[in-house]
Amino acid sequence: MSPTDPVPVCGRFAPSPSGRMHLGNLFCAFLAWLCARSENGRFVLRIEDLDTSRCRRSYAQLLEDDLRHLGLDWDEGGSAGGENEPYFQSECGSLYAQALAVLRTKAHVYPCFCSRADLHAASAPHRSDGTVLYGGRCRSLSPQQAAALSDQRRPALRIEVPDAVYGFTDAHLGTYRQNLARDCGDFILRRSDGVFAYQLAVVVDDARMGVTQVVRGEDLLSSTPRQIYLQTLLGLRTPEYVHIPLLVNEQGVRLSKREKSLDAGALFARFTPEDLTGWLAFLAGQLPRPEPCTPQELCKVFRRENIPSHHIIVPDALLT
Ligand code: GLU
Repeated sequence: MSPTDPVPVCGRFAPSPSGRMHLGNLFCAFLAWLCARSENGRFVLRIEDLDTSRCRRSYAQLLEDDLRHLGLDWDEGGSAGGENEPYFQSECGSLYAQALAVLRTKAHVYPCFCSRADLHAASAPHRSDGTVLYGGRCRSLSPQQAAALSDQRRPALRIEVPDAVYGFTDAHLGTYRQNLARDCGDFILRRSDGVFAYQLAVVVDDARMGVTQVVRGEDLLSSTPRQIYLQTLLGLRTPEYVHIPLLVNEQGVRLSKREKSLDAGALFARFTPEDLTGWLAFLAGQLPRPEPCTPQELCKVFRRENIPSHHIIVPDALLT
């Protein structure tokens, strides 16, 4: 391949198996698959089971069955494995530890002893999404102070962020920027229970799996500048990002994951895979009305620019 050849597309779906998939997960998988396959790209299934207290292998198995039932396939990942093993984040601890070691040489990574209550008590401003901006309480602890505190509590690890703007052009939503210090704050790389943070894991895995295209829900848009910051420090390529709008009901309320009628089991009991695909294609702006079809058929007519750019209203007919 010459340096001017375009890099072949590699997309991915990266679910957390903490329960049965719901309509929103299926919608995301469907669009990620269509974006990659319509460009003749590879498709990877990565299981984001970092939090082993919430995730289960049985849910991972079920989600593979559900994806297949819908007619979606993948070239590597999940239980099928492939050349970029491991595909389960719970097995990637040493890879994340290596990345953490590199980050320590490039930025200020420090132990943070704050409890949840401390974080809320600190008079730090709140981000617009309701999460607390870290006020920097542990940022300048001396090694002696940190050692003394370590006797009482295991620290999380945070990375200091610069007072600088990190932005990108989302292929669907356009320009998005954050001043990391002001809008995000120092963020966690490893939790106090030793579990590596999503922000670090996702960056390491997307890079090592050769992912060039990340299609995921708009709720992760505000995580992306942090991920780009880590990519910059680690010398990794930034993939193309496509954040897709969230699904809401007719009242404009985001669909709840806990809504039983929306989990894959309930949906597959009510709809054939072709009927459900027709609904997903309709919601994704690919069909004027829900009509039975297969993902393979849609691939030929898929137009990314037709995906709506605002919240997508799921009609009550699909919900009840
Ligand atoms: N594991 C995340 C989730 O299930 C998705 C992460 C990503 O796509 O970057 O919400």
